[in-house]
Amino acid sequence: MVKARAYAATSATSPLASTTIARRDPNEDDVQMEILFCGICHSDLHQVRNEWSGMMPTVYPCVPGHEIVGRVTKVGSAVKKFKVGDLAAVGCMVDSDGACPECKAGFEQFCPGLVLTYNFPDKHLGGVTYGGYSDSIVVKEQFVMRVPGNLDLAGAAPLLCAGITTYSPMRHWGVTKGKKVGVVGLGGLGHMAVKFAHALGAHTVVFTTTASKKDDALRLGADEVVLSKDANQMAKHAGSFDFILDSVSALHDINAYINLLARDGNLTMVGASPDPLPVAVFGLLFRRRSFSGSIIGGIAETQEMLDFCSQHNVTSDVEVIPIQKVNEAFERLMKSDVKYRFSIDMASLKSE
Ligand code: NAP
Ligand code: ZN
Repeated sequence: MVKARAYAATSATSPLASTTIARRDPNEDDVQMEILFCGICHSDLHQVRNEWSGMMPTVYPCVPGHEIVGRVTKVGSAVKKFKVGDLAAVGCMVDSDGACPECKAGFEQFCPGLVLTYNFPDKHLGGVTYGGYSDSIVVKEQFVMRVPGNLDLAGAAPLLCAGITTYSPMRHWGVTKGKKVGVVGLGGLGHMAVKFAHALGAHTVVFTTTASKKDDALRLGADEVVLSKDANQMAKHAGSFDFILDSVSALHDINAYINLLARDGNLTMVGASPDPLPVAVFGLLFRRRSFSGSIIGGIAETQEMLDFCSQHNVTSDVEVIPIQKVNEAFERLMKSDVKYRFSIDMASLKSE
């Protein structure tokens, strides 16, 4: 067993603080890596504060973090894709059963035996898995991705969750040139969605509650920006969208967006509001619209997304912070005040 430095929360109300955790010695199919950067996802905040207590109650201490980029420090004897010194990345998943139809189809994220990167039972050491707010991690090779060499590492880390979570539904629902695509909420996920929709050639419209984000939205690749609190601006887009991706982290009026869909249009929810979102079914009945959800993406698709980012020069816009600022970052995330993802420089853990 190896000791790792980490930041953990010990309860839903306590701030994250420095601690030491155990990591397993790499098994033959494991990759051990030094973590260089880890993004801060709003899911980390939901989980640390036990906001999803119904679906996924938090086990404390909780070490969050599932947007991990690092350098390989050791590999097991059966590892083929990685050698010591390689760049590597880990997202939201660290294991699955590998045998079910979902795994065989490349949808590990839907496997009944899925193991998430943190707060999931750890079959190796007991207790729960610990995430990337740490200086090292050991993960089964199959769940480790290659990082294209031309990507900025601090900006690449958020691709492992914010990136794949927005890329996957866009590919599934056929976002391409000639389509009109809406992105609701300009945060970590939303700003990646804008970059992907733009790179895929769609006419991209951002819906934001924050007027001051308008210029950024246009710079990120949006063709139009709508202030969602303005009913007149919303009404201009009624019945016109092929696809809308909603990344809002809290309760909001979903029906306002369903009504913006064209015939056969789809609204996919990726935001994970702890509160249920009431849906008025008549909005779906007329125009045969659909409302669906999506969660991250499979391992092969995550690698495809990283390679797409390499080709299109896409990374996340990040505010790089030392780990000591993580609690401040959580507070700002609560207020939708991030441009547009925090990425923790893990070298800062060395001074703990
Ligand atoms: P984030 O950076 O905080 O962005 C969320 C954005 O939603 C905010 O910037 C804000 O954008 C908007 N917003 C927040 N509260 C709102 C409210 N009450 N009403 C209307 N708009 C509001 O969060 P994130 O990291 O992108 O994550 C977003 C959500 O996706 C979280 O719930 C997270 O848990 C979830 N998530 C899901 C998956 C998945 O696989 N499905 C993966 C990762 C994260 P504006 O200022 O532009 O309005
Ligand atoms: Zn996430």
